Amino acid sequence: MKTTIHDNTQFRDWFARNRSKLTRSGIWLDGGEPGRVDPAGFEAASVRILICRLSSYDDVKASITHKMLYWAANQASGVYVDLAFLPSAHDASLMKADGIPWWLASGCKMPPCIFDVVAISISVQQEALNLPAALKYSGLKLGHVERMSDPSHPLIVIGGNAAGSVPFIHGNVTADREDGGLVDVVCVGDGISWLQEFLTSFGEAKRKAVAKSVFLGNLAKTVPGTYVPSLYTHRIDNGKLIISAEHGVPFPVVHRRDDARIWTRGYDGAFIPFADEDAEETLPLSFGCPYRCRFCQTGWIRGSHDTVTQSELCLSAARIKGAMAASDLNLLSSDACSVDGVEKTISELLGVFPHVSIKSLSVAGLSKSGDVGKLLRLMEKREFTLGVEGISSRLRAYLGKNASESSLIGLVKELASSGLRQLKLFFILTGLEEDDDVTEFESLLKNARGAAAQCRLIASFTPLFNAPFTPLQFSPLRRINTVICGEIEKAAKYGGAQLRWSSSISEIRLMNLFCRAGRAATATLARMSLEKGFSYHDQFAVHASAEGENILMEATENKTGIEGGLKLEDVLPWDDIEGGAERKQLWGSHRKAAEDFKAHTVVTESPEHRIVAAKTGKGPVAQQSVMSITHVFWVWLTSDDAHRPACTVARGLLRNLFQTWKGGGRLYLGNPALVRIEGPSGLALLSADFQEQDGVSVCALKAETPSDGAILESVDIKKLNPSTFLYLVEIKGTADRRLSRLFEVILKSAGIKFQFIRKNGVGWYLVGETYRRRHGLLAIEEKQDGSIHLICAAKFLDSMGKHRDVMRGGIIRGVYGEAQEKCPACGAKLIQPVKIMPGIDLPVCIDCFARTGPKDE
Ligand code: SF4
Repeated sequence: MKTTIHDNTQFRDWFARNRSKLTRSGIWLDGGEPGRVDPAGFEAASVRILICRLSSYDDVKASITHKMLYWAANQASGVYVDLAFLPSAHDASLMKADGIPWWLASGCKMPPCIFDVVAISISVQQEALNLPAALKYSGLKLGHVERMSDPSHPLIVIGGNAAGSVPFIHGNVTADREDGGLVDVVCVGDGISWLQEFLTSFGEAKRKAVAKSVFLGNLAKTVPGTYVPSLYTHRIDNGKLIISAEHGVPFPVVHRRDDARIWTRGYDGAFIPFADEDAEETLPLSFGCPYRCRFCQTGWIRGSHDTVTQSELCLSAARIKGAMAASDLNLLSSDACSVDGVEKTISELLGVFPHVSIKSLSVAGLSKSGDVGKLLRLMEKREFTLGVEGISSRLRAYLGKNASESSLIGLVKELASSGLRQLKLFFILTGLEEDDDVTEFESLLKNARGAAAQCRLIASFTPLFNAPFTPLQFSPLRRINTVICGEIEKAAKYGGAQLRWSSSISEIRLMNLFCRAGRAATATLARMSLEKGFSYHDQFAVHASAEGENILMEATENKTGIEGGLKLEDVLPWDDIEGGAERKQLWGSHRKAAEDFKAHTVVTESPEHRIVAAKTGKGPVAQQSVMSITHVFWVWLTSDDAHRPACTVARGLLRNLFQTWKGGGRLYLGNPALVRIEGPSGLALLSADFQEQDGVSVCALKAETPSDGAILESVDIKKLNPSTFLYLVEIKGTADRRLSRLFEVILKSAGIKFQFIRKNGVGWYLVGETYRRRHGLLAIEEKQDGSIHLICAAKFLDSMGKHRDVMRGGIIRGVYGEAQEKCPACGAKLIQPVKIMPGIDLPVCIDCFARTGPKDE
């Protein structure tokens, strides 16, 4: 039975009760990021979609994918969109024990089964190992057949970078039952416009009460890039795979390509993820790749290098900057150097964002460009990752990433002269490595070390994934020689480099085997995930991979052939989907790989064979020299914001501010910060940097009545000294004095000496002079109703120990500073109000006030 709208209270209550036990206080399940849609929209929506990730919040929070999808779904009429993330192993077991769905919608706290669509984003093949458990422990049915027989069950959709390359999720979940695959629909290729078309079609079908199976058939025929696994049959005949398709559906389904403009037109960043530090926003600069390395889908699937125009990028950047209160812009591109006029584009964007970074550059392209100096000056990059790929020239030739050692070292020298801090050289192990290759590798490292003596040198390795839709899909699945691995480790050490593995040998081998086994591997995948409890979090345990391989080998009939080289005419388990290149072309390049390997072919001039910097370190590439000014505002925090990361809350408040202060977003330079006590809501100080411009002032703000999440007024920073702030924190209590007794315990256990005085029905805990500065507590006022006012600095939290959670219910209603003068009567330091809310009236000398005059009995 479907959960009703009211059932989310049990999940909300569970979250409220348990969030402190969850990883990072459950921030990943909070769902209140600035920009998220109002969960109240769930009820009125005609279509409800839950976008789910197969990794944890922290692992994917920098990803643009689910933000783009969230934005795209939110544009569709009548649609409510929410997000769910995979819990950490610790949180997963807690949720499982309490019967809480793993993919609980973070915004509305509804279970996935009540949504119309559960849309899963998969970025790497390994994430598929989490899919069966994620479905099961989210209360979703595993098999397509079972889902189709339940009209109320959500459709399970998958998309993302790896969605077309996981044929092993579409077979029977149970080995001896025809129960269909783990998902109902796959978006193959670009998903932004696909999702919008899908939601429109789904909305119509839902209105007309069209059966789900009929809807899926229509979708496959009418929306390009739709792969409905149940419409394609895979069977083995005489040891050979045969694929057939239902009448009228595309066969093969071609990867969908969105126009580059779709990614930038209207997108505003969607929401600001929770993060302790200011995070960058991302926009695509280009799609696809001008090169065609033989192992890489990016170059082969799209088949072109499409760029976003400069004017569209600038418009998008301005929109994102204001909407997300962002100051760092990251541009996505497989090779920015191949984008015409990239220097000019960066210059223009630096007129919008104070910091612009590019994740990927062709260093070869840089060195050939006439504007190298200009681009390097613009970039100010200090950390590079160069995709060298093969450890020797013949292996680079095999992988289609040829470059002579001399050209690489020339590039490293050039980078070193620009103040290189870290150089990561990225290598792929093919299984073809021999001693001579290792010798060449060591020489390359030594020369790189010599060319950039001061920088940190890292050699990062991954085994070859024989990716579908690339020439190396045909290659045999070669085992990596562990003896050679040991030699490589020694060579890295002698070459002065740190060696790292970005993926384990067994994990990539398992992925290769799963792909080759195709639908026959689904039951194994389900067993590994459900029976064995294996999961993928960044890496997959070696023993899990080995056990997975054993189960798979037992389950598949073709025990040896699965690893061998493939032929042009062989039918592959992913052949009902087509990448961008023709099969003959892939085959030709595969054959050429063997020839190049034998001939040690070194092609340094072809654009297909230039060394490309795969990634650069995070960070700004340039900062404009503009006069900056720090603007400061009194703000009123909600009780929810009191638990959230200060940086994200600050950006959320700035985002709100820019809706009224129209010039604010344009002038914003970053450094969002909050001065507050962690725990209570109420008053806090927000600051951020802005470009100083004559004649431009902060909008006139004056809101004395607190309202949740509001900016109250701008304030002159010169008149403030936040390091001396004392906060008046109001905490509601009960007449039985339970709260003040708790504070007595806190004071005593922290060794804070105090005097208790009762006057006019109000109790005063006056902290001894020497303890005030040491513990950051001046006094505690106890009202007749049992509520208290703490007058304390932020450091008092340190003295509260395990009781600091009591602050969570507090509200800061006043902020005080130290007065210059001392009390003429008692000589104590006077306090003076900096910002107090209506109804708060504290004497400037609490000692005199409390101690003089008649006391209560
Ligand atoms: S240059 Fe990079 S993105 Fe382009 S095909 Fe080669 S590995 Fe892939």
